[in-house]
Amino acid sequence: MQFKELSEYYEKLESVSSRLSMIDIMSDLFKKAKPNEIKNIVYITQGVLAPPFEGIEFGMAEKMVEESIAIATGFTKEDVEKEYRKQGDMGKAAQIIKEKTKLMRMSSREYTVNEVYETMRKIALTSGSGSKDQKIKMLANVVASSSPIEAKYVVKYPLNELRMGVGDATVLEALSVVGTGDRKFKEELEHAYNICSDLGLVAEEIAKRGENAIKNFRVTLFKPIRPALAERLPTSEEILEKMHGKCSVEQKYDGFRCQVHKNGKDVKIFSRRLEDTTHMYPDLVEAVQKEINANSIILDGEAIAFNEKTSEFLPFQETIQRKRKHGIKEKIEEMPLKLFAFDLMYLNGENYMIEPYHKRRDTLKKLLNGDTILMSGYIIADTPKQLDDYFEESIENGLEGIIAKELNSQYIAGARKFSWIKLKRSYKGELSDTLDLVIVGYFLGKGIRTEFKFGGLLCATYNKKRDMFETVSRIGSGFTEKQMVELKSALDKIKVGSKPPRVDSIVKPDFWVTPRYVVTIKADEITKSPMHTCGRNEGDVGFALRFPRLVGENEAIRRDKSVEEATTTKEVSEMYSNQKRVRVEDSGA
Ligand code: ATP
Repeated sequence: MQFKELSEYYEKLESVSSRLSMIDIMSDLFKKAKPNEIKNIVYITQGVLAPPFEGIEFGMAEKMVEESIAIATGFTKEDVEKEYRKQGDMGKAAQIIKEKTKLMRMSSREYTVNEVYETMRKIALTSGSGSKDQKIKMLANVVASSSPIEAKYVVKYPLNELRMGVGDATVLEALSVVGTGDRKFKEELEHAYNICSDLGLVAEEIAKRGENAIKNFRVTLFKPIRPALAERLPTSEEILEKMHGKCSVEQKYDGFRCQVHKNGKDVKIFSRRLEDTTHMYPDLVEAVQKEINANSIILDGEAIAFNEKTSEFLPFQETIQRKRKHGIKEKIEEMPLKLFAFDLMYLNGENYMIEPYHKRRDTLKKLLNGDTILMSGYIIADTPKQLDDYFEESIENGLEGIIAKELNSQYIAGARKFSWIKLKRSYKGELSDTLDLVIVGYFLGKGIRTEFKFGGLLCATYNKKRDMFETVSRIGSGFTEKQMVELKSALDKIKVGSKPPRVDSIVKPDFWVTPRYVVTIKADEITKSPMHTCGRNEGDVGFALRFPRLVGENEAIRRDKSVEEATTTKEVSEMYSNQKRVRVEDSGA
């Protein structure tokens, strides 16, 4: 497929707002493409070069892209810069400039989808001295051969602005239609995706080998599994009832989630967001090599800083200091980590995800033989009192709470299910859990904030069923000055002229932004409001937050979460009914 044809599909995608239309356009696109193009099309459409665990970044700043456009069109860098300022969008600027130079095509060569992808990958992988100029030239070559509409998408790609608003769920549904002529195959595709975390690979397999390839997807070493997630319930009584009267109760550590893969001496550690974070943990890598009695293994755990002298766990704000590129060795001395292992997904060639929880845990326990990697603390509880006592004990030890786990459940990758239920410490008058919300717009500052030109965020939940972002709150407080500057500069780069296709909102912010960033928000209560679309059915009102404020003193943006991993509308609706129930109980009704 020529890149021109793909660009035309993108134009169509940009002109529709309903998810069903997006699925139709995507399935049509998948049908037209050759099997060996599908993988790259999925990556390009999602604006990435590879799945997150490969960690390939473009490394191109706006100024470099401007220079490429200038070289490709014969315009000056200043002209390009001016057009960019005018349009507020590099893609549009490139398109307009190319329109003006249409008759002066510098090359008659037309790029295919795979050629554009390969060039972009080359650009990303070019590093070292002189690499800046090489990258600029490579991009200029593609722009020179592009028609105006191709140029628009070609320049957006390396600037990470090419997310077409097509979420994972939409890609999976479109693939299902192409693979089977029906959307119902989506769940099996989702399962394949959950165990390999590579949507491009899933797409390629279905295009090349059809249904059977997907059924045969296997857990693979060094391909991270999308992590299992926990549901919430407000009381130990309800947790036990949901767990059929008996469950395991584990301590909940507030550190970094670590998915460890080991094969012989090779070790990799993936984050909650499936990024390869091995470089952050040389101490844990060494411990994995020494303290685990298995040739090959995949395990799940949480790493947390521990003060050996006082035998205390350190709060997350301290543990996070381990997240750095330089000076890791010094920090290891100052702040050693413990890894609390809590699950086993794979052992010596066998998939353990399908085994019951108690068996996974017993097996894992027998494999550990050191004092850096430990089993997470746990008890088996069959009364609410046992659960409450263990909860209190965990809080006293400086932990966040507990996670109850169903004794016979499998490891459910990539999903929030009631086989894991979390109960967190809460303060009077506050929601017990924070919400991770997607920024969909922002407001300009008034009064003291005018100097930052930043006056707050419009935030949304993710409605998984609709694959849409539904607004739930305007956040105006809790920001430090540093965070305001951080947010303003990050959001300015992803400003868009009109409401993005997957956003459902009644409120109109001063600027819309492409849904890309997640922030953690604390609130006192979930209320109902006609201003928000979260959980709103037709003619109904939506959910909103009372006294929402940003959490955390450091960076405002939670870079370990993608927008599809934000708090869902369903979760907010459950939190709303839970809080109502607690209030009724409190009042003795
Ligand atoms: P979530 O991960 O559920 O989206 P979150 O990132 O805000 O939300 P929490 O809601 O605090 O995290 O709880 C889940 C997280 O708790 C897990 O992702 C894991 O990192 C951490 N955790 C700590 N101890 C355990 C444990 N014993 N079992 C499972 N997870 C644990």
